[in-house]
Amino acid sequence: MYGAGAQSGGALEDSTSKGASKMLQGSGNQGQTSLTGKNPFAILKASAIASPATAVFPNNFANLPKVSPPFLDPLDEEDKDKYTLVLDLDETLIHNVEYQNDSFFLVRPGCVQFIETMAKYYEIVIFTAALQEYADQVIDQIDVGKNIKYRLYRQHTSQNGPFLVKDLSLLGRDINKTIIIDNISDNFILQPDNGIFISTWYDDMRDRFLEEITPLLREIVDKKVADVRKALRQYRDQVLRQVANGVKNPSIVFT
Ligand SMILES: [Mg+2]
Repeated sequence: MYGAGAQSGGALEDSTSKGASKMLQGSGNQGQTSLTGKNPFAILKASAIASPATAVFPNNFANLPKVSPPFLDPLDEEDKDKYTLVLDLDETLIHNVEYQNDSFFLVRPGCVQFIETMAKYYEIVIFTAALQEYADQVIDQIDVGKNIKYRLYRQHTSQNGPFLVKDLSLLGRDINKTIIIDNISDNFILQPDNGIFISTWYDDMRDRFLEEITPLLREIVDKKVADVRKALRQYRDQVLRQVANGVKNPSIVFT
């Protein structure tokens, strides 16, 4: 256990179980949805904006495998224009539950389909602060189509004070073409404009965030936006403005 308070949201506490988790999947019922139900781009916590954006790598975990950046292999020549989508695991895609001596995990609605769809557009990377043994057996079960290209674990995180953060600059990818989705905004404090702050998910089977975010992520690639940070800023600004004006189904224009 890393210092008290590290990784709010219980990511570390929930992620260290040794037993194999069984997968319980939510129903795939995909109803009509709109972005107005929740605010997918909730404003970053004040701490994420105010804190100095520095972090130390490698972190000081003695018993973890040694890794060194860049964490990802160079892109193949035919993939050189590819965008990279970095996904958190716990409370973003799944929620692990310890019950008596057993452990299982719940899968966020649309997760399996989301990964499958996104893999047609992006190079998919899971970046979790959890331990590798736990993460691997979860990922093996949710990535049935073997669409996840890379897996990064606690040993790949950097230290920012008492927190573990995910430094996208260590991936070896163009920062203009890299997006991270995470339920803890502090995790992408170093590159806040590359982040999509997803609501923390435990067990709400009516949650449709992954489905709702899909059109935006597709459009970013279809439009070959030069800088995802600018696109995400425009998206945030436009959605927030339209929601504030009572628009039920916000539409986005990239410029
Ligand atoms: Mg998480």
